[in-house]
Amino acid sequence: MDLFEYQARDLFAKHDVPVLAGEVIDTPEAAREVTERLGGRAVVKAQVKTGGRGKAGGVKLASDPDDAVEKARQILGMDIKGHTVHKVMLAQTAEIAEEYYVSFLLDRANRTFLAMASVEGGMDIEEVAATKPEALAKIPVDAVEGVTEAKAREIVEAAKFPAEVADKVVEVVQKLWTVFVKEDALLVEVNPLVKTAGGDVLALDGKVSLDANAAFRQSHHADLEDKAAADPLEAAAKAKGLNYVKLDGQVGIIGNGAGLVMSTLDVVAYAGENHGGVKPANFLDIGGGASAEVMANGLEVILGDPDVKSVFVNVFGGITACDAVANGIVQALELLKSKGENVDKPLVVRLDGNNAELGRKILNDADHPLVQQVDTMDGAAERAAELAAK
Ligand code: GDP
Ligand code: MN
Repeated sequence: MDLFEYQARDLFAKHDVPVLAGEVIDTPEAAREVTERLGGRAVVKAQVKTGGRGKAGGVKLASDPDDAVEKARQILGMDIKGHTVHKVMLAQTAEIAEEYYVSFLLDRANRTFLAMASVEGGMDIEEVAATKPEALAKIPVDAVEGVTEAKAREIVEAAKFPAEVADKVVEVVQKLWTVFVKEDALLVEVNPLVKTAGGDVLALDGKVSLDANAAFRQSHHADLEDKAAADPLEAAAKAKGLNYVKLDGQVGIIGNGAGLVMSTLDVVAYAGENHGGVKPANFLDIGGGASAEVMANGLEVILGDPDVKSVFVNVFGGITACDAVANGIVQALELLKSKGENVDKPLVVRLDGNNAELGRKILNDADHPLVQQVDTMDGAAERAAELAAK
């Protein structure tokens, strides 16, 4: 989960990374009072989950409270790379002498963590990396040893930080590592880390991405979610504990196992080419234990998607056998009907694997008017695409 800058700033402050005071607002008028509180001047910064805000005009200095209202008015509602600005952060201004770059990230390819640092921070670190790779130091960080003072010094020396800020940067680098570890982050990036005219070192912009797999031990991270931006169907699926991703097609997909569901998306997209270009409407993996309840939850989310015209239930029976899944489908349809849900879209079911014969018999006997069975995955995809195109 990517955070907004102001949320990253709050996490930095929590772990004693030096930052400037800031407050987030969503109306221009609110800028006046906040700017007064911040000492009469402010930098007004668009809060969007994308980079390059400065270049896009989403970061502006305001010289007094009225000016801050004006700048907030200009920035709120702005579109930055497809992201609409709904909030701005007002922060104390800094007199910048130099701009640096520091980050920690998970380096999957090398199976380690990586520190990156450069004295050429500011707007475009990607460009520095591409045109002057020697100006971007990359130092692997051992997960167990972490960033000791010696490691922080190694990073600072590799990036050739000026001697007069080296000690301060060493301290900040260690604190940023603390943020990375304590918050279970996948990315902690500061660009720019600045030296002020007074010689202080401050994190002026922060980008943090948190590891959703650590949610169980980071209960406060749930509060950082951007609920306004979440897709309502994805939110409903999440509340039911389902592995669901909304896509933009018309064929609802339910399968057991992520690999099977992914290949189901492919065959449906392929079959859809012959039916006016219909596509999968979602990814939904109901996992190994496809109980009636899980099936009902999955069907409820998918049938609640107005884009869905047909549903393809693709199950390969393993530990959970096909007869259990078939019973799950039958009971799920009854459950949804008794809850007054609109069950009016055709379901194409393909059962294979453990106890497939028995599963098919259960569905045949139930003889539900909306359920059709096709024995092969390709055939079922074809049928589901055809029904969605009608
Ligand atoms: P980004 O473009 O999305 O990365 O946004 P940043 O927060 O990094 O801001 C872009 C640039 O605005 C920085 O590199 C600074 O040069 C400048 N900037 C940000 N805050 C201040 C500030 O308090 N004072 C001054 N003078 N410049 C600032
Ligand atoms: Mn930046």
